[in-house]
Amino acid sequence: MGQEITVTQLRRWLLAYAARIIENEDHLTELDTAIGDADHGVNMRRGMGKLQERLQDEEQTEDIGSFLRSVAMTLISGVGGAAGPLYGTFFLRAATSPTNGSSVDLAQLTQMFRFGLDGLQQRGKAQTDDKTMIDTIQPAVEAMEAALATQQSTAVVLAAARQAAHLGMKHTIEIEARKGRASYLGPHSIGHQDPGATSAYFLFETAAEVFTKTGAD
Ligand code: ADP
Ligand code: MG
Repeated sequence: MGQEITVTQLRRWLLAYAARIIENEDHLTELDTAIGDADHGVNMRRGMGKLQERLQDEEQTEDIGSFLRSVAMTLISGVGGAAGPLYGTFFLRAATSPTNGSSVDLAQLTQMFRFGLDGLQQRGKAQTDDKTMIDTIQPAVEAMEAALATQQSTAVVLAAARQAAHLGMKHTIEIEARKGRASYLGPHSIGHQDPGATSAYFLFETAAEVFTKTGAD
């Protein structure tokens, strides 16, 4: 439980996330072509390009709150679509969670994700099973909270988050969309994986990779 996650590690995480999204641009486009307007890949890639610029030329130390707020503003202005303001709200609200200034412990990291999720839900009004990014993020946050409650290590907590996020993402294939553009398709949305649930999965996949590397500072 002792491991602290620093701003430097958060920056590494989001750079890994940006790279993963850029690698998966075509995949996200295909998913949004099936049940949306085919722009999720392009929207996310554009935002991730802005995020890379923002993170690369940022070397001075800053506190976690300002760092997350700046990430949020970059996503709101860079991503666009429905997803930009939603991801932006996630990070804006995450920025209001308690930290130790330039680091968070595992409990604070979990709470940071919880604040983000609650903000996202207030903004988008989606619940689980509406076939959105909430279907990935909510089970992941709940898995982190459950693992944390039994005093698990960072690696175990983040592995649980990644696994729950993956199951949630895959579950969106089975269900009908009730929020966002895909909801216009009604039952025809069944059988397709939600694009936003997919881009959100990569947040947890890269967090599990980056925050559990041994020797990370
Ligand atoms: P747009 O729908 O404007 O084209 P994007 O294609 O970038 O925007 O993003 C679509 C994704 O946004 C969906 O796959 C879904 O996961 C997410 N989404 C849409 N509406 C909501 C909502 N109300 N709450 C949470 N996520 C949502
Ligand atoms: Mg779209």
